[in-house]
Amino acid sequence: MLLFKKVADLQDYLQSVRKKGQSIGFVPTMGALHEGHLSLFRRAKSQHGCVVGSIFVNPTQFNDARDLEKYPRTTEQDILMLNGVKCDVLFMPPANEVYPPGLDTTLRFDWGGLDRILEGEFRPGHFEGMAQVVKRLLDIVRPNALYLGQKDLQQFIIVRRMIGQLGLDIDLVRCPIVRETDGLAMSSRNRRLPAAHRAAAPKIYDVLRACHRQMDRHCPEELEAWALAELQQPDFRPEYFRIVDGYRLQPIKSFADSDFVVSCTAVWLGDIRLIDNLILREKVKAH
Ligand code: AMP
Repeated sequence: MLLFKKVADLQDYLQSVRKKGQSIGFVPTMGALHEGHLSLFRRAKSQHGCVVGSIFVNPTQFNDARDLEKYPRTTEQDILMLNGVKCDVLFMPPANEVYPPGLDTTLRFDWGGLDRILEGEFRPGHFEGMAQVVKRLLDIVRPNALYLGQKDLQQFIIVRRMIGQLGLDIDLVRCPIVRETDGLAMSSRNRRLPAAHRAAAPKIYDVLRACHRQMDRHCPEELEAWALAELQQPDFRPEYFRIVDGYRLQPIKSFADSDFVVSCTAVWLGDIRLIDNLILREKVKAH
């Protein structure tokens, strides 16, 4: 695997890749890699001659300075893992390569309100920072395909809208959530959970699955209320539990209202915030 820290060096190399006729799959990450990330790399590797991964803990998407400061950084281990999945190129830029002084990276497109609901309601500014860095990385890497995880479903939906609106010629691939054996969605933040919270955390997936089982008997609103009550466990602080239409992330009154229905939740366990979601119904894969 080749490692680049400078935009110009990466771009020179990728030019030679394109000249060889190889396509480029791109997996952006913030590092502290786990099997969930690796599943994206494996998928990309199965579809492209050259897979580029990035590790960049993007300061503009953290609305909480403490969260940024405490974000785990495990670079040596990440490099070993990326070698293990035969990633071709790792881009690990310092902040001044991503945001060089004088370059206007502000994004302008019609968000359609997607940045203000669910995660956007509780993490103001988060999606602006996320979309800004994704667009900047896409401009740098110019991949044929971008791989994102369903774990961050709202991020996926916003990036899909951005790609559509800006007319970017990039295939967007949504990869399923990889979970621990007890059901907890893998996340870089899990390693910060104290043992008692880690042991209790699979409750989130249990509640998501229970809603799935009860879809025939209850309307979305009843299930949301039930789920929020069920998540009131010691040291848990559920922020939201919503059952939404998976295209626009708007609430639905009845399960018959959409053929793509997702339940999404964010829960604090102590001072760690976990998000998870479960697709309750998807007739045709929605992308
Ligand atoms: P992050 O490093 O948290 O920015 O995540 C980088 C990419 O990995 C994003 O597209 C995430 O959605 C994806 N990802 C994170 N956790 C998982 C998981 N458990 N399963 C699948 N994809 C994931």
